Amino acid sequence: MKLHEYQAKQVLGRFGVPVPSGKICKSPEEVADYARELGAAVVVKAQVHTGGRGKAGGVKVATGPSEARDAARHILGMTIKDLVVHQVLAEPALEISQEYYLGVVLDRATQRNAVIVSAAGGMDIEEVAESAPEKIARHWIDPIIGFRSWHAAELVKRGGLPEQLRTQAAALLQKLVRAYHEVDANMTEINPLALVGEDQLIAADGKMVIDDNALYRQPDLALLEDEAENDPIEAEARSRGIQYVRLGGNVGVIGNGAGLVMATIDEVGRAGGQPANFLDIGGGAKAELVRSSLELVLMNQNVRSVFFNIFGGITRGDEVAKGILQAQDTLEIKVPMVIRLAGTRAAEGRALLAGSSLIAAESMQEAAAEAVRLAGEA
Ligand code: GDP
Ligand code: MN
Repeated sequence: MKLHEYQAKQVLGRFGVPVPSGKICKSPEEVADYARELGAAVVVKAQVHTGGRGKAGGVKVATGPSEARDAARHILGMTIKDLVVHQVLAEPALEISQEYYLGVVLDRATQRNAVIVSAAGGMDIEEVAESAPEKIARHWIDPIIGFRSWHAAELVKRGGLPEQLRTQAAALLQKLVRAYHEVDANMTEINPLALVGEDQLIAADGKMVIDDNALYRQPDLALLEDEAENDPIEAEARSRGIQYVRLGGNVGVIGNGAGLVMATIDEVGRAGGQPANFLDIGGGAKAELVRSSLELVLMNQNVRSVFFNIFGGITRGDEVAKGILQAQDTLEIKVPMVIRLAGTRAAEGRALLAGSSLIAAESMQEAAAEAVRLAGEA
């Protein structure tokens, strides 16, 4: 689950990371009032789940209430990487003299958490990573030893932070790592860590992604879920207890068992298509769950065909078929559907579907090819 900048800053603040105090606003008037009360320059920042807001014009510094109102008018309602801005964060503007980068991320390749520091922070950090990777210092945390003060000290030095800031930066980095562990994050980032005046470091931006599988033990953070404006279909799936992940393509995928669904997604790719989603109906799914799953898949307007891949073990082919027929009765289905049904009660299932518009395929490969072809025609 991604947190918004203002939420990430609240969390980081709890762990002692210096963050500006701001206010979340939903209208230009609110922002103007905030600027008036503050009596100083403000920065107005779009709150959407993507980086690159600065480059897209979603971060503006305003010197007074009327400028702040204009900035908010401009930013509220704008679209950044397909996301509409519904709220802005207003904060006292910082006079930034340098921008640094601090981050912690789960590195699956090494199965460790990586801590990353660079003196070349700011909006072009991705560019720096490509063109001058030596400017970015990394440390992989040994899970037995943990992240100790000497690791932090060494890392800020290697990352190129100026000597007089290193003690402060190292302490801040340890707080960031502690926050990362304690809230079960799998990514957190301060970019820029701003230098204000001669020697004051403050987090001008904050990012944090919480491991969804740990939300059960992070009740405070789970409460932020609605406010976090995550994908509406994924949110709906979660409330129905269905494993669904939206992907970018147009072939809807439904299968039983996470492994089979992943294989199905690969098969769609191999057939030259692109899956619209991952959806696992799990083991022993009943008709109603199948109907509900199909309804979810069809909520994605990009879907041009649906591919059911069912290998019956404890899941019964006839139950799946009943679910699909129920769905056809209650939903208006405009896209073609292909099904590969094998295993327990597959023959009964196919018999039930015989009169319907569903296209039955013998193998998973055949079904994938057909679903991809139909999606291309639509
Ligand atoms: P991002 O582009 O989505 O990562 O958004 P950021 O929060 O990092 O803001 C983008 C850029 O705006 C930063 O790199 C800063 O240069 C600038 N910025 C952010 N906050 C302030 C501020 O308080 N004062 C000033 N002068 N610039 C700011
Ligand atoms: Mn940033």
